[in-house]
Amino acid sequence: MIDLRSDTVTKPSQAMLASMMTAKLGDDVFGEDPTVQILQNQLADQFGMEAGLFCPSGTMCNQIAMNVHTRPLDEIICDKLSHVYYYETAGYAFNSGCGVRLIDGDQGRITAKQVEESIQADFDWLPVSKLVVVENTCNKGGGAVYEIEELRKIAQICKSKGLKLHLDGARFFNALVASQTNIEEYWGLFDSISICLSKGLGAPIGSVLLGDHAFIKRAKKVRKAFGGGMRQVGILAAAGLYALEHNVSLLQTDHKHATLLAEELSRQKYIAKVITPQTNIVIFDLEKDIEPARFIEYMKINEVMVVQFGPQTIRMVTHLDISEEDVNAVVNLIKRFR
Ligand SMILES: *Cc1c(COP(=O)(O)O)cnc(C)c1O
Repeated sequence: MIDLRSDTVTKPSQAMLASMMTAKLGDDVFGEDPTVQILQNQLADQFGMEAGLFCPSGTMCNQIAMNVHTRPLDEIICDKLSHVYYYETAGYAFNSGCGVRLIDGDQGRITAKQVEESIQADFDWLPVSKLVVVENTCNKGGGAVYEIEELRKIAQICKSKGLKLHLDGARFFNALVASQTNIEEYWGLFDSISICLSKGLGAPIGSVLLGDHAFIKRAKKVRKAFGGGMRQVGILAAAGLYALEHNVSLLQTDHKHATLLAEELSRQKYIAKVITPQTNIVIFDLEKDIEPARFIEYMKINEVMVVQFGPQTIRMVTHLDISEEDVNAVVNLIKRFR
């Protein structure tokens, strides 16, 4: 099977498994797992943040960040396509008692102007605007990448209006590679950052939340309350460290593969629209007379898995376990579909 449903489907390589097997372990609830500490500190240093916290999922990182930055009756500003709004079961309401103010952005990207216009006035009957969440890359926006200049402007607005800024950086390394920017250029922009190791980077499990000491101290308590305190979890942190060392440079290949798929798709009469991929996510619409289930079934019979992403919309995601031969095979299938 060629599995293009998501970049979460990668399996750990033999070399990654070997690094997991030899990891030094301890009880991380006691703060005694040396491998977890190395991972947390390494990412914090890289991102110019004071501290990090290893979490089981990117969703938990985002949920903890929203909880720490807000109080009940507050409002979170984000794009209408954002993961925190769309794919986290309204957890902002359930876990933190907050509402959301949705922005109609461009492929999931919001602007500083839109943020400024979304901040609530100070009336008793309005929620308090407290937090802005930006997602880079934007999953549902087709892996779209922010211009760093716009992020700077958003950070500026947040600072001047007293709002916190969280980066859902589940695929931030994809954004870095695609935009050819350096991490250092982003230092100081965000109050917290979530980085996923289990997406394009290919670790089986794990995300890291970054922030200042006070934020991470509180985040640790909230993680425990959410049931995310883990014991000899260095076995997973080791996979993350391996991924950061070996797999970041491979993201470029995923992006190239996504472009090849998109180019072939855009040549087909049965395709209405393809969002030009900037990274590893290809989102496209089938023409109205094409039943998505028929396309998905055609792919499946030919051992390719894709997901439906809207009424006429399909998503394909390239990743570590997709080779050039796989891409060529899918290109041929795309050509032959009738
Ligand atoms: C995948 C993803 C997450 C976190 O997902 P988990 O499956 O909970 O690790 C968060 N934000 C974005 C944009 C994502 O794509």
